Amino acid sequence: MSSKESAANEKIVLTGDRPTGRLHLGHYVGSIKNRLALQEKYGHCFYMVADVQALTDNAERPEKVRKNVLEVALDNLAVGLDPKRTTFFIQSQIPEIAELTIFFLNLVTLARLRRNPTVKNEMKQKGFGENVPAGFLAYPVSQAADILFCGSNLIPVGEDQLPVIEQVNEIAAKFNSIYGSTFRKVEPLLSETPRLVGIDGGAKAGKSLGNAIYLADPAKEIEAKVMMMYTDPGHVHVKDPGKVKGNVVFAYLDAFDPDKEAVKELKRQYERGGLGDIVIKKRLIEVLDHLLSPIRERREKLAENPNRVMEILHEGSRTVRIAAKETMAKVRKAVRIDYFG
Ligand code: ATP
Ligand code: MG
Repeated sequence: MSSKESAANEKIVLTGDRPTGRLHLGHYVGSIKNRLALQEKYGHCFYMVADVQALTDNAERPEKVRKNVLEVALDNLAVGLDPKRTTFFIQSQIPEIAELTIFFLNLVTLARLRRNPTVKNEMKQKGFGENVPAGFLAYPVSQAADILFCGSNLIPVGEDQLPVIEQVNEIAAKFNSIYGSTFRKVEPLLSETPRLVGIDGGAKAGKSLGNAIYLADPAKEIEAKVMMMYTDPGHVHVKDPGKVKGNVVFAYLDAFDPDKEAVKELKRQYERGGLGDIVIKKRLIEVLDHLLSPIRERREKLAENPNRVMEILHEGSRTVRIAAKETMAKVRKAVRIDYFG
C-alpha cells in the first residue's frame, strides 16, 4: 500500500458526550467500551466534550453545562480513557468548528433537518414543537463539523445517533461535490448493546430522561434503582411463569453479566416459573457492583484534583486547535474565500 493510500485508509476515532449530566450505564455499553477498545487498537483517538451542542437545548442554563464539563471528563478518565492516547478537548475552545458549521449550514435544507429521526425524536421528548431553537434543529450540522474538522472517520455511537452520522456523510459528500474532494466518508461503530433501556422500561436510558444508573452512583443508590426496575407485571408469585422479553433486569444482565450461560439458565427458570424477581435483582446488583466499584474509586481520587482534569482539557484543546486551523485553511481555499493567502 502506498503512503497516500494508507493515509486515506487511516482510522481516526472521535467520540464525545454532551455535558448535560454525569454518564450512565447506557454510555458505558453503547459507546465507552468501544472507546476503550479503539484506544488500545489505534493508539490515538479524540474525545470531545460537546458543550456547544449541550447549549443548543440548554441556552438558559449555562451553569449546568459548565459544571458538567468536569463531570463527563471525570467519568471518561475514571473508566480508563488515557489522555496520552486520547486527546481530550472542549468543543467551544475550537472556534474553527463554529466556522465550518456556517459553511455546512448552506448545504442542508430545513426540511431535511426536520426529517432526521434523531432530531424528530429528541424534539418530541423535549416538547419543542414549532418553538425549537434553530441551533438545536441544526445540531447534526455542527456534529458534521465536529467530526470532519479533525479528519475523524470512525465514530463509536449508540443507535440513537445513526441518523446523525448518515446526515454527516450527506453533508461531506455535498461539500466534496461542489468544492472538490476534501472530506472522507465517516463510519459509525455500534456496540453489542447499541441501546440500553431505561430502568423504567423506557426505550433508552438517557441523562436528560432521569431513568439511568450513573457510573458514579453510590452502591446504595444502585441497589435502590435495581430494586425499582420494571420486570414483568404478570409475574406476581415466585411460582408463576415470567416474561423475559421487555424485562429490564434481564436486559441489564444481558448487557453486563459476563457469565452468559448462567444468564441463559436463569431465563429458562424464570420462564418456567419458580424464580423470584429478588433473585435476579440481587444478581444484577452484584454484577454492577463488581463493574462500578473500581470506576467509582478512581473517579473519587481524580475528583480530588479538578484543576488537573481541566488542565488535561486545556492542553488537548490547544493541540487540537492546530489541526483545526489546517483544515480551515483547506476549506477556505476550497470555498474560494482565501483572499489574502
Ligand atoms: P442527553 O439526554 O443529554 O442527550 P444522553 O444520555 O443521550 O444525554 P449523550 O451525551 O447525548 O447522552 O450521548 C453520548 C453517547 O452515548 C452517544 O454516542 C449516544 O448514542 C450514547 N448513548 C446515550 N444513551 C445511550 C443508551 N441508553 N444506550 C446506548 N448508547 C447510548
Ligand atoms: Mg443524547
